[in-house]
Amino acid sequence: MKWIRRLRSAFAIIEPAAFAFARWRCPFCGPSLLVRLNRADHGVRCARCAAGAIHLSLGAALRAHVRDLADRDAYELSARGPLVDFLRRSARSLAVSEYLPDAPCGSERGGVRSEDVQRLTFADASFDLVTHTEVLEHVPDDARAFAELHRVLRPRGVMLFTVPLHGGERTVERARLRDGVVEHLLPPVHHTDPLRGDGILAFRDYGRDILDRVRAAGFSEVFSFAPPSPAPWFVPRDVIVARKGIS
Ligand SMILES: [Zn+2]
Repeated sequence: MKWIRRLRSAFAIIEPAAFAFARWRCPFCGPSLLVRLNRADHGVRCARCAAGAIHLSLGAALRAHVRDLADRDAYELSARGPLVDFLRRSARSLAVSEYLPDAPCGSERGGVRSEDVQRLTFADASFDLVTHTEVLEHVPDDARAFAELHRVLRPRGVMLFTVPLHGGERTVERARLRDGVVEHLLPPVHHTDPLRGDGILAFRDYGRDILDRVRAAGFSEVFSFAPPSPAPWFVPRDVIVARKGIS
């Protein structure tokens, strides 16, 4: 079975002193165990679907704030993983894409649609739900990205997403793009990108003003959702929820 294979590979990274588990209801696969394999950020997994802390947090936000998922056309800014699997079987329809710099926007490579969130090729008002996890900190012009995500949403549409939050008030810009060249304002920090296998540059560390940055793109209701946790060793990620108004 697929989940046994996944769990077996997860056990390869187990840190015995950190091992812990709790019974819980997974937002993606239902009654399950939440396990902590090690103390790293990615050390907490659902034992059945192998979803990690970030996807599980997004899933909890979906359960809490998007009750009519079966009536929604969804768009997720990644092409695989437990969140994609869940949306594919739960939403009315699902579009997925990856940022593939060598493939023209809107084209497909290896069955995966290429999109740049700063200039999406989808028509206005294409979706009722958009989701993304740990993407926007890597986008040079995030204001344009939020405006694009607002554009492709229908009135009353919802965007749910995560970005790393440093806990302080103000977003810290680490780098910017000038005439196509990256200019570093702070020492470069790279996050792991499972698709490319190497690190991907973080253009900024977001503060609590992320909510204002999202509002500035036109979203009418924007708040941060803290998912519940079944165990003290699992600290879920805050999920930003943003609704588009009707006008
Ligand atoms: Zn699960």
